[in-house]
Amino acid sequence: TELVPDLLPRTRRLFLLLNPCGGRGNAFQQCHSHILPMITEADISYNLIQTERQNHARELVQGINLEEWDGIIVISGDGLLYEVINGLMERPDWEDAIKMPVGILPCGSGNALAGAINYNAGFEQAMGSELLLNCILLLCRGTVMPMDLVSVTTCSGTRCFSFLSVAWGFISDVDIESEKYRHMGSARFTVGTMVRVASLRTYKGRLSYLPVLDGHRPILNGPKDDLIPPLGQPVPKTWVTLEEDFVLVLAIYQSHLGADLFTAPFSSINDGLIHLFFVKAGISRASLVRLFLAMEKGNHIEMECPYVVHVPARAFRLEPLTQKGILTVDGEQVEYGPIQAQMHNLFLYSGSN
Ligand code: ADP
Ligand code: MG
Repeated sequence: TELVPDLLPRTRRLFLLLNPCGGRGNAFQQCHSHILPMITEADISYNLIQTERQNHARELVQGINLEEWDGIIVISGDGLLYEVINGLMERPDWEDAIKMPVGILPCGSGNALAGAINYNAGFEQAMGSELLLNCILLLCRGTVMPMDLVSVTTCSGTRCFSFLSVAWGFISDVDIESEKYRHMGSARFTVGTMVRVASLRTYKGRLSYLPVLDGHRPILNGPKDDLIPPLGQPVPKTWVTLEEDFVLVLAIYQSHLGADLFTAPFSSINDGLIHLFFVKAGISRASLVRLFLAMEKGNHIEMECPYVVHVPARAFRLEPLTQKGILTVDGEQVEYGPIQAQMHNLFLYSGSN
């Protein structure tokens, strides 16, 4: 009859984007052995596309018909989701586009968002195929939730959208320098950390931020950066500014910086907060190693190391005063120089919870 089809749940149609080069390069095998059988079982229909090069996913999502899909899922690390989100935000109809649920099935070396989603769902911290299976289950369940989204502006005036982190110093150095150990999977970060600890660097910089003064979130209309003046103009008087020698500066808005790095236990997927973390120069190598080891379980917060500072903020500006260095946004390298960011209240859906 005419009535029945409306009463039945409609088959979900997912647009799957697979990065064959993510992590150890086994996303394709994982997809055929685990992912496709499970989502087929859950009565999900899909179109699977393998990305052929960097920015391919970004271009593809700019061209899709939003009406045709119930979600866009990346089978990769965080880098491919970064492309998808930025591709959606670059569309003229971004206000509708960003309502498209997105999800991640972790097959990369950087699987921070999957770690955060896994934690948010109440699962034990997991890695590898265990984490992947949890994320497939959550995707099949099909619940959608809002997620914080941050706009980041770099020195040339380019603006991008970020769901994870902005990093400078130790963390971005390890992330980018360890690209050469990509074949090791997520172990590349452990090796990279040891290499960086051995030749520890510090960076001089100015960090300014808009502190969180009350409990409620500012209401923002669309992605206009109404909390931050343009780079080059001074920050408002209500901001806090400090000039320091840093080992690292990290702005993080998810609980995890990697599947096994529970860096911001107090952060949740939609708390509307940028958690600023910094480590000041003077910390011993031993303390720094202890800090990263404790981070696996989130125990570093109890260490109360005087060189490690955490402040929640709505917006921040970072002005490197050291000539050379590496800046990353969601683990992807961006141009080096002054950088600023602010939280948005946009509702982005994390289709995997
Ligand atoms: P990982 O966590 O291992 O870094 P990502 O999903 O973050 O995995 O992907 C890393 C990078 O690979 C991203 O910057 C993405 O743009 C790029 N990429 C996507 N498809 C391809 C491809 N076919 N060949 C090379 N690089 C690609
Ligand atoms: Mg990556």
